[in-house]
Amino acid sequence: MDQGRGRAVVRKLAAGNWKMNGLRAEGVALAEELRRHCAATLPGCDLLICPPATALTAVGAALTGSPIGLGGQDCHEAPKGAHTGDISAAMLKDAGCTTVILGHSERRADHHESNALVQAKAVAARAAGLAVILCVGESLAERDAGHALAVVAQQLAGSLPPGLDGATLAIAYEPVWAIGSGRTPKAAEIAAVHGRIRRELSGRVPDPAAVRILYGGSVKPDNAAALMAVPDVDGALVGGASLVAADFWAIAQACA
Ligand code: PEP
Repeated sequence: MDQGRGRAVVRKLAAGNWKMNGLRAEGVALAEELRRHCAATLPGCDLLICPPATALTAVGAALTGSPIGLGGQDCHEAPKGAHTGDISAAMLKDAGCTTVILGHSERRADHHESNALVQAKAVAARAAGLAVILCVGESLAERDAGHALAVVAQQLAGSLPPGLDGATLAIAYEPVWAIGSGRTPKAAEIAAVHGRIRRELSGRVPDPAAVRILYGGSVKPDNAAALMAVPDVDGALVGGASLVAADFWAIAQACA
């Protein structure tokens, strides 16, 4: 059991979000380097990388037979149709993805994605057979105003559809001000938010203890072990450091 908190230990998850970085050849080279590090499944951690859509098929081919999973960074809420430039959940599945990141703060900011839209996307992802990494997190102004817990709870309530469980859902707590900034919240602040997320999951999923709650925002090799030791932190969603195979591997090992 996990530190006497009555929770069975879950396998952690280290997920790399490459964002809009990497042409196919660069993505394949990065995947191959990561694969050389990760010859076998880590004892306590699953690995997932989420390349740009254009590199999914090539990176997926480079990962064939490896324990590293493939994920998308977003999907449309409709199964198909006249949505120029978008990608459906079924297309991600067809490209070899098992999982999709939804509600990332960059999508919420750059594309004005609402909680309701993120929820519709999660429904579409599940209909296509994808697991969901659902992102939540407060802005700096919201944290400074003392509203971090309420904001995260509200995002969760608004964007989590019914019908998901520990096998099909992970939550990523990503304070917006920590992403790409080199700053991270204090351990107690992360523990407070993750604990609140766990409580909010009660009544919304059948197995709240089994849902992995990832921390994301400036996770690096030198802070990963400390972040993974925070109660209720079940892995990491990694941006910048996932673009360097040795760094992402070091983070994965800290998770394991
Ligand atoms: C992210 O955007 O999901 C992220 C965690 O980025 P970074 O690790 O670069 O802060």
